[in-house]
Amino acid sequence: MSKKTKKYIFVLNCGSSSLKFAIIDILKKEKIFSGTVEFLHSKKSQITFKDCTNEENKVIFLENLTYKKSIEVIFQKSLEKIKCLQSILGIGHRIVHGGEKLHQSTIIDKKIIEQIRSSIPFAPLHNPFGIIGFQEISSIFPHLKHKQVAVFDTAFHHTIPSESYLYAIPYELYKKYGIRRYGAHGISYQYVSKKFSKIVKKDLKYLNIIVCHLGNGGSIAAIANGKSVDTSMGLTPLEGLMMGTRSGDIDPSIIFYLYENLKMNIGQIREILTKKSGILGITQINNDMRYVEDNYHKDTNANRAMKMYCHRLSKYIASYFTMMNDHLDAIIFTGGIGENSVMVRKMTMEKLKLFNVQCDEEKNANTKFGKCEMISSKNSIPVWVIPTNEEIIIAEETFRLLEIEQT
Ligand code: AMP
Repeated sequence: MSKKTKKYIFVLNCGSSSLKFAIIDILKKEKIFSGTVEFLHSKKSQITFKDCTNEENKVIFLENLTYKKSIEVIFQKSLEKIKCLQSILGIGHRIVHGGEKLHQSTIIDKKIIEQIRSSIPFAPLHNPFGIIGFQEISSIFPHLKHKQVAVFDTAFHHTIPSESYLYAIPYELYKKYGIRRYGAHGISYQYVSKKFSKIVKKDLKYLNIIVCHLGNGGSIAAIANGKSVDTSMGLTPLEGLMMGTRSGDIDPSIIFYLYENLKMNIGQIREILTKKSGILGITQINNDMRYVEDNYHKDTNANRAMKMYCHRLSKYIASYFTMMNDHLDAIIFTGGIGENSVMVRKMTMEKLKLFNVQCDEEKNANTKFGKCEMISSKNSIPVWVIPTNEEIIIAEETFRLLEIEQT
């Protein structure tokens, strides 16, 4: 391949009813095209394409989109932009759960598929669809079959010690069935910690940071000497912080109560805790933090949701101070809420005054929509907003593994 030939990595993130994709120019480390397929297998199926070079969006409505059809349309459309299929060097798949065995990115083969399959009980809404994504690419583009890499959201947390990953339940449940904390959002944590290390020009292995990835799903990670030592999500992404529609931490006895006294079945209880709780459960209207911010002064439920969200978040941050060795380099906010919600950051930081966390209100108010800034005042523990970029990490990992393969 000549030096001038463009090299792209195609990134796929397959979920149960949606699929996200991006094309990364791997030499420039730039996203050039991205988008989402929503409402798969329904009459409302639609694909949104975003041309990252000119910020133009296009939406196509196609009834009953399957994974296969979606991938065909995405590639067709992408080729208008990148011209040549051969310039796609490989496909990077975001796989949510790698279980105990898969703790680094890997080229996908039969054995890896079986291992991803064995973690389906821990990520039923994600892992099966990652496998489908791999299979569809292999059948539509056989020449790309062996150029596909799995990048795991759990992998970054492989370093957390047993006192953090074990639950205080009979030890054999861990030994026999792998019931332990695995965490999630690891790809985002990897990106943010690398980026912060570049910003402050300090080697990752000397950095102690607390990173809050706050999106529709949210978690927090304690990163000491550049390695994850604790995180709020657990066996599955249901544990931890209050989220858009997920409850986060609850007393497990609530489940017994719903089952025994309210006669709910397991399916109904799962639906409540994963889809009807969190911000949606408390506001009873909306799972979006923008709604909560807009209605904070007008609506009691929105007010309550905001206070609960920040109360729980600040409690986690405070507890993670205990894992930071002799110093803390920074608290970092990322994800849709972390990058944009001025109110969440301000209210959370106010609760951490005792820990020498002070908000610079002007900087905080001006930091949103993709800005990367420090938002704390001069003498405070540094607090940063760093927009995440999971696709870049997936593309880099894919490129790295395929390059190794070729040498
Ligand atoms: P993510 O899952 O990282 O894409 O984050 C999505 C969430 O970010 C949405 O559900 C909103 O709650 C939140 N969000 C996005 N934009 C804003 C904004 N401008 N202000 C507050 N929250 C926002």
